[in-house]
Amino acid sequence: MNEQLSQDLADVGRLLYEKRLTIASGGNMSVRAGNSMLITPSGVCKGMLSGRDMIEIDISSGEIIGKGKPSIETPFHLGIYRSRPDVNAVIHCHPVSCTVLAIQKKDLRTNLTPESLMILGKDVPMIPYDTPGSDGLAEKLIATMGPSKACLMQNHGALVVGKDLMDAFFRMETLEYIATLQLKCGEVPGLPEDEIERVLAMSK
Ligand code: 13P
Ligand code: ZN
Repeated sequence: MNEQLSQDLADVGRLLYEKRLTIASGGNMSVRAGNSMLITPSGVCKGMLSGRDMIEIDISSGEIIGKGKPSIETPFHLGIYRSRPDVNAVIHCHPVSCTVLAIQKKDLRTNLTPESLMILGKDVPMIPYDTPGSDGLAEKLIATMGPSKACLMQNHGALVVGKDLMDAFFRMETLEYIATLQLKCGEVPGLPEDEIERVLAMSK
């Protein structure tokens, strides 16, 4: 198993937990390592893992290489790596403000600040609810997320992808920051359409 990437996963888990972007044993993270993905184990605190706890899974066959019980959300992590060659890291967790929006079934507004548009893009879709760990959730997530960088998961939490783990972590941090701004600001106008297009063009 790739030791550096396993350690990076443990480090990002600690950051997510310390910043309260996830609590208790919630959330899961993975990283692409060649033809495999390394993923966090199931049912344990993601802030207290070591590199040795990570589980390697072959992306095309879904076969576990070695020992351990991988995250119950292995189906959607695998689905993302199979359908998105641009993605090398996936973070799913349950940050408070994102989850409030996901329970209220309110879409995240990416037009409140330029930073949000630059880091999250214009569309952050809402994934329809399905049971955690189910193939149904994986199917809905892959179909609804499309090429987006981030999404909210109805009555559950949030998910981001990235070119590497830090890219994904910054997107999760930004997603939660923007969700918090949105909840604090209430009904306010967003940036005008021509400014949105200008900012999106800058970040290409
Ligand atoms: P795991 O500990 O199995 O990854 O489950 C946590 C979770 O957030 C399920 O959606
Ligand atoms: Zn979850």
